[in-house]
Amino acid sequence: MTKLEVVFLGTSSATPTRNRSLPAIAIRREGQVILMDCGEGAQGSFVRFGLGLNKEMLILITHLHGDHVNGLLGLLQTMSMSQRVRSLTLIAPPELFGWLKATMEVFHIGLTFDIGLVPVRSGVVHRGKDFRVRAARANHSVDAWSFVFEELPRPGVFDPNKARSLGVPEGKKWSSLQRGRSVVVAGARIRPGQVLGPERQGRSIGYSGDTRPTKRLARFFSGVELLIFDSTFAARDAKKAVERKHSTSTEAARLAREAGAKRLVLTHFSARYKRTDGLLRESRKIFPDTVAARDGLILDVPAVQ
Ligand SMILES: [Zn+2]
Repeated sequence: MTKLEVVFLGTSSATPTRNRSLPAIAIRREGQVILMDCGEGAQGSFVRFGLGLNKEMLILITHLHGDHVNGLLGLLQTMSMSQRVRSLTLIAPPELFGWLKATMEVFHIGLTFDIGLVPVRSGVVHRGKDFRVRAARANHSVDAWSFVFEELPRPGVFDPNKARSLGVPEGKKWSSLQRGRSVVVAGARIRPGQVLGPERQGRSIGYSGDTRPTKRLARFFSGVELLIFDSTFAARDAKKAVERKHSTSTEAARLAREAGAKRLVLTHFSARYKRTDGLLRESRKIFPDTVAARDGLILDVPAVQ
């Protein structure tokens, strides 16, 4: 089973604190990195946590507030200085692309690799070999988006005894069936369903970016294994959360419950909270399977049972 991890590079909100950097979260999976938001300083954490500068890579930007994008230029420049050749894909609100091009010109930055620019929109925004990324509108003070990374379902477990009893010779025909393709044995068609167990569900990770909780997002995040949600404020500061279009820890918990998420990770903490245990406690009262992110936290996303 492919290892799937989430590496929290920055867990603060708009300003950094002694222990928390600006927003940046990476999904690490079999030589691939999917970076979600790229706050200032992300490249340092990227190197510190060994994410690798020449991996197959996708960058998702939720919205155009500086704290979520100011690290992008530095990261791309360092990748170039490390002689990256592999192209990468950047999915973001399209206004970012003009800024990126203009800034690179001003700073004489020439990239050693191509960037595929994909304007974010509702629905599937990226299809990988065995996973996809979907986007949905969030509800923040500017145009903002949430993302779900999801592995595609895999064929069920192959039963060699069934294959033998149906007279399928070991070798090429077995592997065709294992990959979900029918084969013909002595004039008879054998379908994968005859030798495979039930289809195995893939894993999914949701990331809210900055947002108020909404019905749409509860539906969008339906059943995700791991939900990473805006928890800028504690419940006592709910008024501020409404004004600034963020969420509180209890709102994140309620949304996770409504969505039927398996696990919730709180992140994007306001610098006003030195410690996050109070926010964590509030959330756990409603959604017990909550963790509070911290810079450097690595969470494993196990296989779906
Ligand atoms: Zn933010």
